[in-house]
Amino acid sequence: MDKEWRCTRCGKLLGLLRDGRLHLRFARGHEYLVGFPATSVCRGCRTLNELSEAKPAASVAPADKAVATR
Ligand SMILES: [Zn+2]
Repeated sequence: MDKEWRCTRCGKLLGLLRDGRLHLRFARGHEYLVGFPATSVCRGCRTLNELSEAKPAASVAPADKAVATR
């Protein structure tokens, strides 16, 4: 199930969130899968959009702490 990432100003579709990564598609068949944080300039209104996380990292943080204190 993909989640849409849209421009905060004009609502233009910037990319799709898929499996914890950002799927960007450009003209002429160029596609990119990128991690977070991600930034993109809207093609329509030139607004700089930022996306820090696909979902809360709460499920990952405790495990990292447990490893660090051992
Ligand atoms: Zn825009």
